[in-house]
Amino acid sequence: MTDTLIVGGGTAGCVLAARLSENPDHTVRLLEAGRLWRAPDGFPAELLDATSLPVGADAPWLWRYPVTLSDAGVAGNIVRGKVIGGSGAVNGSYFVRATAADFEAWSRELDSSKTWSFDSVLPAYCRSERDVDFGDHPWHGRSGPIPVRRSANPAPLSEQFATACAAVGFPAIPDLNANADAHGVGAVPCNIEDGRRVSTASGYLLPALSRPNLTVQEATTVVRIRFRGMRAIGVDVMHDDRTETIWADHIVLSAGAIESAALLLRSGVGDAEHLRALDIPVVHPAPVGAWFTDHPEIGLEYRLDAPEQATVPLEYVLELDDIEIRPYTVAFTPGVQRLGIALMRPQSAGVLRLRSADPAIPPAIEHRYLSAEHDRTRLRDAVATAAQVLHRMSAQSRTDPMPRPSKTADAWLHANLATSQHLSGTCRMGGADDDRAVVDELCRVHGLTGLSVIDLSVVPVPLSRGPQATTVMIAENMADHRSRDGGGRTSPRL
Ligand SMILES: Cc1cc2nc3c(=O)[nH]c(=O)nc-3n(C[C@H](O)[C@H](O)[C@H](O)COP(=O)(O)OP(=O)(O)OC[C@H]3O[C@@H](n4cnc5c(N)ncnc54)[C@H](O)[C@@H]3O)c2cc1C
Repeated sequence: MTDTLIVGGGTAGCVLAARLSENPDHTVRLLEAGRLWRAPDGFPAELLDATSLPVGADAPWLWRYPVTLSDAGVAGNIVRGKVIGGSGAVNGSYFVRATAADFEAWSRELDSSKTWSFDSVLPAYCRSERDVDFGDHPWHGRSGPIPVRRSANPAPLSEQFATACAAVGFPAIPDLNANADAHGVGAVPCNIEDGRRVSTASGYLLPALSRPNLTVQEATTVVRIRFRGMRAIGVDVMHDDRTETIWADHIVLSAGAIESAALLLRSGVGDAEHLRALDIPVVHPAPVGAWFTDHPEIGLEYRLDAPEQATVPLEYVLELDDIEIRPYTVAFTPGVQRLGIALMRPQSAGVLRLRSADPAIPPAIEHRYLSAEHDRTRLRDAVATAAQVLHRMSAQSRTDPMPRPSKTADAWLHANLATSQHLSGTCRMGGADDDRAVVDELCRVHGLTGLSVIDLSVVPVPLSRGPQATTVMIAENMADHRSRDGGGRTSPRL
């Protein structure tokens, strides 16, 4: 029987599979719903090309979800990677750490436990990276599996943005991953090498594939978790239109914040009333999907008299504590550029529920963006700052200016609303007496044994930076906890 069965070979799942299988006495099985290629050169060119996001209407490697972004009825669509490497195989390659303030907030959710303090997690961030610009500096790693670099030759648009930020009075931040709480403009650290996106699949998993104690199955979708009493003992999977049950000593869900939550709910772990309404037998009541957070983004479109240049989608950002302003280098419409203004610590929270017990039907996802007055105020202020920067760039705005009175300005915010696709927290972490918590501080599902969630689902606070590097860190940190426990066949603490 498998010691650890990991559901989902995405950003977190690939890290865990590689790290846990370093112990030859520990058998690891990774199940991924999407395709696997066994060498980086085998990946389709679109997945490797870091200059654009391979998320077009025909892309075959995506989960797609209709969502409601706000109560004003703003609808949207979001995607996640359904391929080895998960969302990290299709994303913008922006690899930046969360701030010390984020980890203070996270630790407060755990009664000031030190497991997720900034000092405790820093070694895991460092282990993950091979920073080619700052690897020799304190706070950095130079031998980890993920190459991290900033654009050596930024596009003219990015340079104009950085110059405009300086002219408005914002300082330069040389290293966004070291000055954890700094305000100002800085070059984006990216997980790329030779123009290629390096996901945790190519960085961590592929080099480990030859280990005899690691099995990876592609095109295998887990549809339900099996329990004996309160112990998780296996999973039902679909593979080539056949169903099968796979048994394991310990099951780790790393299916991402949407699918890990949906899987728990379909398996009977969730709000009892909601599950009964869908005829799902209740195994254990838990607030799965009752809260999530994501970064709302307002888009300002503009034209700029500057040559376009193929590069990573985002080379510079302006960080203003809870606001991130992003001059995307990729034109969403030919000739039209976009400035994204994201609220990184929103108070509005979303809800995820099942529509049906049928795994083929995607869950209902309501972001409830802009429902808190605080969020609307912060975004109104941020749009005014962004307009100043655009003015300094001599950009020609294509978006109608935000009107002044706050009521009409709010309608304008709704009309220009989008999402950063950073959904997290559906299985949030907290103490046993926290009625919002699904997992404990070591990612084990409260009230059940043999079952953990290790991915972006567990983060209990909004992260004020993009979540990719932190998802890698979470998996590194939990794998390390396990190995410090002795790394034996069974895994009492994971
Ligand atoms: C288009 C896009 C752009 C983004 N850009 C950035 C960026 O530039 N920087 C940044 O910091 N963040 C970015 N993000 C967010 C970031 O990529 C994700 O938050 C992060 O990768 C999540 O990691 P995860 O391990 O939680 O989930 P994922 O990486 O999504 O992994 C989940 C894996 O589980 C598999 N899976 C799901 N359900 C099942 C099942 N039932 N059975 C078997 N396998 C299953 C999936 O196929 C997938 O491989 C972006 C996200 C998207 C979608």
